[in-house]
Amino acid sequence: AMRHLPYFCRGEVVKGFGRGSKELGIPTANFSEQVVESFPADISTGIYYGWACVGNGDVHKMVLSIGWNPFYKNIKKSVETHIIHTFKEDFYGEILSIVVIGYIRPEKNFDSLEALISAIQEDIEEAKRQLDLPEHLKLKEDNFFHLPEGKPVNH
Ligand code: ADP
Ligand code: MG
Repeated sequence: AMRHLPYFCRGEVVKGFGRGSKELGIPTANFSEQVVESFPADISTGIYYGWACVGNGDVHKMVLSIGWNPFYKNIKKSVETHIIHTFKEDFYGEILSIVVIGYIRPEKNFDSLEALISAIQEDIEEAKRQLDLPEHLKLKEDNFFHLPEGKPVNH
């Protein structure tokens, strides 16, 4: 699972399949099919941690799910980022930049919604701990997240 890491990726946030992630308190920003297809074909499905940034905003901790998309009868992968930060508004259409750093666990099926939510809460705690390690913190400052200073975006 670690062979492709760290993995840097940037793309537009699109509408997902309305599986109600937000209602569970765990909204996931979905990448377009095109961005998903640009991922290494043999990257393991499962839950990862890393850093994420919306537009030119601050860099936050995140957990990422790479999984099979039931909407397309499981023939297409989806890549969804839950940013560990409370945003004032949704950010559909904005550019999400992420660096995927480490693997947490494979995909699992859960017997209940409660079991699913508590697994995700554990993933979030694990991501927070891992990302506080100096070797992982340094990627937060990576130039990937910042346009060169004084250089206008449109020039
Ligand atoms: P969808 O099925 O459209 O992906 P979700 O319920 O997963 O719907 O919600 C995802 C949307 O919520 C994101 O596209 C983004 O605009 C918004 N959002 C707000 N806060 C967050 C957050 N902390 N992490 C990810 N997305 C967030
Ligand atoms: Mg989503």
